Amino acid sequence: MRLVPPPLRLVLVLLPTLLVGSGGDPPRLPNMPRGWTWPPSETMRAASEHCKATLEQFGVAYEAVPEEVLKISTPIVLPRLEVGALRLHPLRGPGRYPMDCALALAFHQVEPALREQGVRSLRFRAMHDYRNVRKRGRTTSMLSRHAIGLAVDVFEVEFDDGTIAVVKRDFAREPRLKAMVDVFAASAAFRDPLSPANDPKDHDDHVHLEARLPLERPPSG
Ligand SMILES: [Zn+2]
Repeated sequence: MRLVPPPLRLVLVLLPTLLVGSGGDPPRLPNMPRGWTWPPSETMRAASEHCKATLEQFGVAYEAVPEEVLKISTPIVLPRLEVGALRLHPLRGPGRYPMDCALALAFHQVEPALREQGVRSLRFRAMHDYRNVRKRGRTTSMLSRHAIGLAVDVFEVEFDDGTIAVVKRDFAREPRLKAMVDVFAASAAFRDPLSPANDPKDHDDHVHLEARLPLERPPSG
């Protein structure tokens, strides 16, 4: 009997999931969060409503984006780009930056810990960006989580004393940048951040932050 090469074996194992999904939901795409489907399933639509209600309950000012934003299941904008006392500062200039509601809610969860570390503003470039994952300078065939509005690339951080730390220049010598990354690493609301510390090849100049959908979170307790 001839052995099936490992990569092909993986495809064969995954194929039924890729084609059929589970429970009659639309198929799941590679690299996409557990529970995430396109078009959004009933479960996702219910989660969308719940997310927006929760933001309202926490007093986070947001506007729902009425038109469809490609592959964002719950598109919102934060009109002041603020979550509590945490600011999101767009390095590309003012504008509307659509994100999934789940990302705003995840920021709300880490805001107290970030403020405790003196983080005033996360200065970002890419947020929603309909593209595939890039690795080692090459574009892969997997859709990026930037495409579904769950990710943001932070290039600089402003602290309460007015210092602006630049990830590329200051990561090795500014302990507060590392402490900021640790806040996200410790939060169940985010996946492990990619930074110069753990991915210097592809993330030497920014920190990639990516919210988890509630369905993806590790069980608490
Ligand atoms: Zn990124």
